[in-house]
Amino acid sequence: MARLVMKFGGTSVANIERIRNVARHVKREVDSGFEVAVVVSAMSGTTNELVGWVKEAGAVHDWREYDAVVASGEQVTSGLLATALQEMGIPARSWQGWQIPIETDGAHGSARIEKIDGARLIEGFGANEVAVIAGFQGLDPATGRITTLGRGGSDTSAVAIAAAIQADRCDIYTDVDGVYTTDPRVVARARRLDRIAFEEMLEMASLGAKVLQVRSVEVAMVHGVKTFVRSSFDDPANPQPGTLICDEEDILEQQVVTGIAFSKDEAQITLRKVADKPGVAAAIFQPLAEANINVDMIVQVVSDDAATTDITFTVPAAEFERARAALEKARAEVGFSSIQASTDVVKVSAIGVGMRSHAGVAAAAFRALAQKGVNIRAITTSEIKFSVLIDAAYTELAVRTLHTLYGLDKA
Ligand code: ASP
Ligand code: MG
Repeated sequence: MARLVMKFGGTSVANIERIRNVARHVKREVDSGFEVAVVVSAMSGTTNELVGWVKEAGAVHDWREYDAVVASGEQVTSGLLATALQEMGIPARSWQGWQIPIETDGAHGSARIEKIDGARLIEGFGANEVAVIAGFQGLDPATGRITTLGRGGSDTSAVAIAAAIQADRCDIYTDVDGVYTTDPRVVARARRLDRIAFEEMLEMASLGAKVLQVRSVEVAMVHGVKTFVRSSFDDPANPQPGTLICDEEDILEQQVVTGIAFSKDEAQITLRKVADKPGVAAAIFQPLAEANINVDMIVQVVSDDAATTDITFTVPAAEFERARAALEKARAEVGFSSIQASTDVVKVSAIGVGMRSHAGVAAAAFRALAQKGVNIRAITTSEIKFSVLIDAAYTELAVRTLHTLYGLDKA
């Protein structure tokens, strides 16, 4: 029999009425003959509140206790949805991560799934039971303790379960009706995509599009899980298909650029008058790596005195203070005259697998941005994307300019 995983995010299960609406979506799929596993998030706002309580109770010394608290939101919604389904006459059973079990490593707070045993869920299907699974949760088998998968982790629960039970499809229901060419709140002419390639979605999510947890896209790509992003606010009797995330080969009309993403979560650091000699880059970036800080864009200016140079790079805004401290500590070894920093920057990226076979894609963007007076502070490129770092004040203008440039505007 065909199998389906349906995942519902926090806004879709925010209250009992919405949970009933979710139950209607589930009923439709059960009635059409699917064996269904549902994965739920906590009610919207709940996880934030739980995290807030943990922090209020004390500095997090022990992430096992953080997980014990924050995993509880999903326990509530899984039980409630199972109840709502039973009320509609559909046999259903709730499952916590540890009951399945969903085994993870021991990295509490951002654990990675290592193994899922689908046997008990499949057994339940045999008894015509819908499985309602608490997303976000796992179990570290080495300690027997509950883990969580990082914020937004229910997406990853859903895709990983789909792979484990060999589901035909994984439908991620959310409060938008699919993946857009860019954020529709910024560009009114953003278009919903019918399809997007796994690799493109991975870049979009990594570069700031908030639809899916990055890790979930990785899992979908590795296991080839056909994943749809669609709206839970559609009429359950008349659902829209949403956006399919799939192999590149399954997309017929490939554009050069598929989407524009942006992230405000960036900080720019410039080290002035760094000695221009071998070993300096290592002296700068080694301490950052040791502090587990991800450095993204790097620009080194050619020095005009052949003695010193400036190096600019970006780190996640949340890591900015730690990065500055690590650099100050390494100051004697690196030898720079000053640190300049700005958190008022945004990284705007264009993504598309078509870039592999087209030249000049980024060059056209640099020209278009220059014509609008947008100054570019740093650039990075890779096979299927390029990113520019600009002043945050120009975010909308830059995103709109690139969206139009690559023909993404809706008619
Ligand atoms: N409830 C968790 C969070 O808010 C997991 C999720 O919703 O995916 O991060
Ligand atoms: Mg989410």
